[in-house]
Amino acid sequence: MATIRGTMMRAVLVRQFGGIENMKVENNVPIPTIGNKQIMVKVLVSGVNPVDTYIRSGFYGKLPDLPYIPGRDAAGLVQRIGSEVTKFKPGDRVFTCQSGQMGTLAEYTCVDESNVHPLDEKLSYSQGASIGIPYFTAYRALFTKAQAKKNERVLIHGASGSVGLAAVQMGKAYGLHIVGTAGTKEGMDLVSGVGADEVFNHHDPKYFDKLQKGEKFDVILEMLANVNLGKDLILMKPRGRTVVIGSRGSVTIDPRDFISTEAVVMGVAVLSASPMESESAEYVLDGINAGWVKPVVNRVYQLEEAGQAHHDIIHGTGTKGKLVVKVQEP
Ligand code: NAP
Repeated sequence: MATIRGTMMRAVLVRQFGGIENMKVENNVPIPTIGNKQIMVKVLVSGVNPVDTYIRSGFYGKLPDLPYIPGRDAAGLVQRIGSEVTKFKPGDRVFTCQSGQMGTLAEYTCVDESNVHPLDEKLSYSQGASIGIPYFTAYRALFTKAQAKKNERVLIHGASGSVGLAAVQMGKAYGLHIVGTAGTKEGMDLVSGVGADEVFNHHDPKYFDKLQKGEKFDVILEMLANVNLGKDLILMKPRGRTVVIGSRGSVTIDPRDFISTEAVVMGVAVLSASPMESESAEYVLDGINAGWVKPVVNRVYQLEEAGQAHHDIIHGTGTKGKLVVKVQEP
């Protein structure tokens, strides 16, 4: 493992909350100090999640102190270990899901050992940077919140994105009947390619009628509740569970639609699960070993293009998996 020269690194720094113009690559950012229970990771690839853009905009419950480095998920190599770290050594391939202040759009980041996981050789660094938030969210939504049981029917409303594809893979591995939606033919092909039993286009004006004519759902994972929650309530079976994962505004619903079914609507907030549930990490690590965790990377950006990646994850349509940023070579 190469030693670090100097005390400075390249990183994307945000000095004030707002648009993507506030994301600047700087060459003289101090390398963070490692804590006793932390691992310093040499970041090779950083994963981009919608939450990164909410934080950068300043519209998020808990904001970091300025200036800050964006990014929660990453994959790379262990550079250094704190004195109390037991499970890793320098040079190990790892992926991380951060919960602290230090971001991953940087050459080095320090992460609590509990949020660092081994990255199997069968996955690339780009795939490793695509695991954290998407797979842990899918687990928390499907199992911790909805308590999905084998053979239940699950609708993943928005299955072509990072969380949706993770949920399709996880649901199929567990033995659920998965129905997914996507907004394009390519997205639909991808969703069925990772194992969904049925796929619909959520931009087809007739897709809701088609769904309504079929068997209803025990569980619905909702990526865009401000558009779909009213439909979800109609599509739930008696005692069905809808988990709201994403929403970008308000929505009008008819509460009578879940009185007769005694169905439940609940939210999920993966970043409030602290520390990252070891249960979900174990499940995902088992899935990597078994081969069903196969993150789909849509596009790799350069560090200078990190702002573009933030723009695209919010404004892009026709999603086909994960957006990641390459930070440096191994
Ligand atoms: P992503 O990769 O950008 O995927 C977005 C998904 O939404 C795509 O499948 C997209 O499909 C779909 N979509 C677009 N229009 C839709 C519609 N009318 N109906 C249903 N789906 C539609 O984002 P992600 O990382 O998967 O995250 C998804 C959402 O969950 C985001 O809002 C994110 O903020 C949220 N999230 C929440 C948590 C939490 O803890 N609560 C954690 C992670 C993510 P097409 O592009 O094919 O149309």
